Amino acid sequence: MQLLDGKATAQDIREELRVAVEQRKSNGQKVPHLAAVLVGNDGGSLTYVNAKVKACEQIGFDSSLIRYEDSVTEDELLAKVHELNNDDEIDGFIVQLPLPEHIDELKVTQAIDPLKDVDGFHPENLGKMVLNLPCFLPATPAGILELLKRNNIETEGKDCVVIGRSNIVGTPLSIMLGRSSNPGNCTVTLTHSRTKNLKEKVSQADIIIAAIGKPGFVTADMVKEGAVVVDVGTTRVPDSTKKSGWALKGDVKFDEVAEKCSFITPVPGGVGPMTIASLMINTLRSMDLRGK
Ligand code: NAP
Repeated sequence: MQLLDGKATAQDIREELRVAVEQRKSNGQKVPHLAAVLVGNDGGSLTYVNAKVKACEQIGFDSSLIRYEDSVTEDELLAKVHELNNDDEIDGFIVQLPLPEHIDELKVTQAIDPLKDVDGFHPENLGKMVLNLPCFLPATPAGILELLKRNNIETEGKDCVVIGRSNIVGTPLSIMLGRSSNPGNCTVTLTHSRTKNLKEKVSQADIIIAAIGKPGFVTADMVKEGAVVVDVGTTRVPDSTKKSGWALKGDVKFDEVAEKCSFITPVPGGVGPMTIASLMINTLRSMDLRGK
């Protein structure tokens, strides 16, 4: 078994982006500026946003963090989105999800200018992604593809089972892996909580992508010898041995599955860092898409 080391691969990408930013600077071009909007004090969201800001600093992007209390109204948040859409200094921005229940996430996502939507969640970007037109690709699926590509994992003609059909991971990933590209050209089965004979389907797959949020769901008896296993799940579970009191757990029973598969992503240090790297790639790309 070989580890698909997302942390190391993401570090390579950050270094390439840092060089690209230096190049832009020496050409007298603008440095990309990423803004992140964070509502509330959820520990997970705060960790993700801080990691994004830190990645910007390492690469040399400008970054801004805009924070609101949970009590922010939908109108206030939409006003900020419009302000960021019209601010020429800001090249791309994200609104960290999830948002409090009184705010309509779809409305907020749709209010973001598609040319600044570096998360790739706007319907226009998702539609363009389906048609293989230039767009911002959703960060987690794009990060997974980049991880496979940079580790020379062959996808062409492979049977791939994606577990979980969320709009941000499973569904776009199944489309991206199935289309005629590299990585791609897989025969994809997109599975979910209503799938019959899930275990049987997963156990026939050459490539397994688990994105459900159920720690240890994928066990060794579900995995074919030599399969490639990508674990997207990140669930906080209580762990008294950690200073924080919790540990991050993936959807795959790592120890037993690692013995059977050819490649596997760890949690943490697999898909998570690649998601942030993709966001950074999208932020640099925003300069091209907006002709800057
Ligand atoms: P989600 O919105 O939480 O939805 C979960 C999906 O799993 C749904 O499609 C659900 O099916 C499916 N599911 C649940 N139980 C199942 C079962 N027993 N068998 C088969 N399918 C089942 O998905 P998400 O937002 O993609 O998040 C999934 C996990 O990935 C979470 O742990 C999240 O924290 C993590 N994540 C990590 C990153 C990263 O960068 N590392 C990024 C995004 C998400 P139904 O549709 O039928 O309900």
